[in-house]
Amino acid sequence: MIRSRCGASLLLVIYHNRYLEIYSSDPASAPGRIESILDELDTHFEFVEPEQASEQEVLLVHNPAHVEYVKAHRLTYEIALLAVGGAIKGAELAVQGEPAFALIRPPGHHASRNSSWGFCYFNNVAIAVEKLRAEGKVNLAVVADIDLHYGDGTANIFASSPTITYFHPEGNSRQSYLDELNRFVSFRSEPFDILAVSAGFDRHEQDWGGLLRTEDYHTIGKILKEFAENRCNGRRFAVLEGGYNHSVLGKNVKALLEGLG
Ligand SMILES: [Zn+2]
Repeated sequence: MIRSRCGASLLLVIYHNRYLEIYSSDPASAPGRIESILDELDTHFEFVEPEQASEQEVLLVHNPAHVEYVKAHRLTYEIALLAVGGAIKGAELAVQGEPAFALIRPPGHHASRNSSWGFCYFNNVAIAVEKLRAEGKVNLAVVADIDLHYGDGTANIFASSPTITYFHPEGNSRQSYLDELNRFVSFRSEPFDILAVSAGFDRHEQDWGGLLRTEDYHTIGKILKEFAENRCNGRRFAVLEGGYNHSVLGKNVKALLEGLG
């Protein structure tokens, strides 16, 4: 693995220029959103380019009718496949011992097997985890979803899967949110094979949720890193979900990655 940038974080950022393309009129596809994150990350992290996922990989989770539905919007389909490819790359790096963050869009945690909503099309995290499982690389996985919104798609997909644990802290104050996260990681004493983080930033005090501060994302990153080191042999990757205030989004992403890396 390349480590060219002196002093760069060990956490790798997976990114493709096509994530800048405006594939929809929703807030996840808004102009300037990805740029606001790049502005904060590009001098601090090593970047890796993903490949587009195959239809076969998407079909590990979604049914053919849903794939056809997304395919009807050609540009959205192409960027969504690239987003899945970014999450898969993150999962593969994590298995190799390289913590990674997939700076991708569209997001995925509201995508169920047969349907999707909330600016999502394909469930990036679920497909990445299922691919690792299909290849026999992991069995027990935790998906920690720190987005403001409950990832109904991810929860639905893994509802009948006893080996995948989905966790979405709620909390109506900063402290109760962090307490809930700390309780989860300290109660789960069994070993897992990998930690996947659905990294949404819309719970920030200047975003839709109006709760967390930028420093809290650093704390969340550290808690999750420690959990991964203690329970998952260090294997961890995060995937971008929501986060819509471009003036704070990049700083929040950077704070999380500095904790998680
Ligand atoms: Zn959200």
